[in-house]
Amino acid sequence: MINIAIDGPSGAGKSTIAKAVAKELGYIYIDTGAMYRTVGLAAVRRGIDTASDIAGVVSLLPEIEIDIKYVDGVQHVYLNGEDVSSLIRTPEISLAASHVAVIREVREKMVDFQRELAKHHNCIMDGRDIGTNVLTDAKVKIFLTADTKDRAQRRYLELKEKGEEVTFEEVLKDMEFRDKNDSSREYMPLKKADDATLIDTTGNSLEESVELIKGFILERI
Ligand code: C5P
Repeated sequence: MINIAIDGPSGAGKSTIAKAVAKELGYIYIDTGAMYRTVGLAAVRRGIDTASDIAGVVSLLPEIEIDIKYVDGVQHVYLNGEDVSSLIRTPEISLAASHVAVIREVREKMVDFQRELAKHHNCIMDGRDIGTNVLTDAKVKIFLTADTKDRAQRRYLELKEKGEEVTFEEVLKDMEFRDKNDSSREYMPLKKADDATLIDTTGNSLEESVELIKGFILERI
């Protein structure tokens, strides 16, 4: 199977780019952030304080069954059979995802699932530790980044479009927190793999970035 890894901080455009390239190549797109978000959602629903109650989150894990299905080429994520694809896209769940993602047991469960998917499909997988840990043998590895303000602006517009009541400052603060939390965690932090190519999309439109990265990947597979 051919696997492509795209890592980077939030809002760098990973998912839009990965989706577009997957479509072009006929690969599946695997959004690993959605899996951490689903664990975050399950914990929040149980009233677990994800910022501090590691034992609570770990004890919940055996009850969490995550599944991924593709409906018209779009990834849907299921928590114990319930489609939670939209419910996981709120600022509250973004934060909970970032909290639960520092927990080793959570990561091990997610990574096993991600590797199993990649074993059976040509895929483009995006996340934080795909090139460094999940798919170390990926055929192409990209580390995608952009200036924090650019990324926050992009995420702010996305949330506004969906009708979320947020301010730019809140989105920026949330992004800075998550970047720091993701990069500084002890186990499998957000980090560029030594053999990944760094691509900085600051100042580019999303369309320009999609074209650039599509070309980059097509030349290498
Ligand atoms: O990519 P997305 O913003 O949806 O991810 C939500 C959170 O899940 C991230 O802030 C990060 O903490 C965590 N995550 C991770 N490893 C991945 C994907 C996401 O730690 N491979």
